[in-house]
Amino acid sequence: MASLSPLLKQATPVIVERGEGVYLYDEDGRRFLDFTAGIGVTSTGHCHPRVVAAAQEQIGKLIHGQYTTVMHRPLLTLAERLGEVLPEPLDSVFFSNSGSEAVEAALRLARHATGRPNVVVFHGSFHGRTIGAASMTTSGTKFRAGFSPIMGGVAISPFPTAHRYGWDEATATEFALRELDYVLATVTAPAETAAFVIEPVLGEGGYVPANPAFMAGLRERADKHGILLVVDEVQTGWGRTGRFWGHEHFGVTPDVLVTAKGLASGFPLSAIAASSDLMAKAWPGSQGGTYGGNVVACAAALATLDVIADEKLVDNARDVGATLEAGLNKVAADTPAISDVRGLGLMLGNEFRTADGEPDAATAARAQQEAASRGLLLLTCGPFGNVVRMIPPLVVTEQQVDDALEIWSGVVADVAGS
Ligand code: PMP
Repeated sequence: MASLSPLLKQATPVIVERGEGVYLYDEDGRRFLDFTAGIGVTSTGHCHPRVVAAAQEQIGKLIHGQYTTVMHRPLLTLAERLGEVLPEPLDSVFFSNSGSEAVEAALRLARHATGRPNVVVFHGSFHGRTIGAASMTTSGTKFRAGFSPIMGGVAISPFPTAHRYGWDEATATEFALRELDYVLATVTAPAETAAFVIEPVLGEGGYVPANPAFMAGLRERADKHGILLVVDEVQTGWGRTGRFWGHEHFGVTPDVLVTAKGLASGFPLSAIAASSDLMAKAWPGSQGGTYGGNVVACAAALATLDVIADEKLVDNARDVGATLEAGLNKVAADTPAISDVRGLGLMLGNEFRTADGEPDAATAARAQQEAASRGLLLLTCGPFGNVVRMIPPLVVTEQQVDDALEIWSGVVADVAGS
């Protein structure tokens, strides 16, 4: 008999058996409001009937059709239909299985296309756990310490984090852009830099949105120096932020877009998108893997696109997200331990600090555990683990948000009340 590796640290004792919409049910039939959505994956809710039907129909016809040998229709149709949601001129897509793989694909494409070695990432970034992606991840030492040598060619520049210093957004942005110029001039060299890789909202890094001035500054420098702007929308895509893509909030268009999570409602599927011209600079065989673009996952992704459109889930994320944010702000106003509530749409974080202003991961973890015991599942994040985040499925209703807020205010009063 084997046991589960201690590498896996489970935040709650819940053993889940089934899911329906915004709810998960454990083995004893206990119901939980799931404000984690499997880390921002099940945007259409757990087991949406249309996703289930599409996957079931596909699984009876073909489970695996390897795209380097035989193409399958769901992948072709999905590629076409992604054109409905991708920004121009990103008209070419390539599929893999996970966010990390897609990040690696974007990195390889950027190096191929530019012939340059270096990339700049931003403090608080999370791009995955494969060695390349982990080398670009700066939201915690646990993601990169201890397995050196990590990949070279990565420089880190500040992300505008006004909340950290009590700055206004303009000051934080000016600082971040000046530091970026410094990094380019002294570390990576503009002519040797392949890409800026950025999340529109830092995810694992603590739910910190970028802003239009910062993103415009990146776009400007990218254009000036022939550097590619790679936007990692693994967590921010598919309506999560109240726009289909997170970068839409900031008025810039990426050169390469990376997506996964919400794409297939829980089936492992990820993609990169770029212009055909850019994609053509790499060569067949340089990208891909045995399972990339799995046919059942593609069928589920097609149903996911339909559900998002028909049920207006992007608008729901914006509107119900505004209710959730207002409710969280109300709780925070009565709770000195919550120093900040921030995010976009249904991607919201509550930052916990001690009376001395230090990151308070212990209280965040207690809040998470206490919420779970009261039927509300939450996640923590942030470089210091002191942010409790809320990312429910995008089908969440105003009523379910009210229910969650009621639990949350009780939890906060008990674990962090003054
Ligand atoms: N990029 C971002 C922005 C993410 O949030 C994540 C996962 N949390 C990843 C990449 C890695 O995705 P995966 O875990 O599917 O490899």
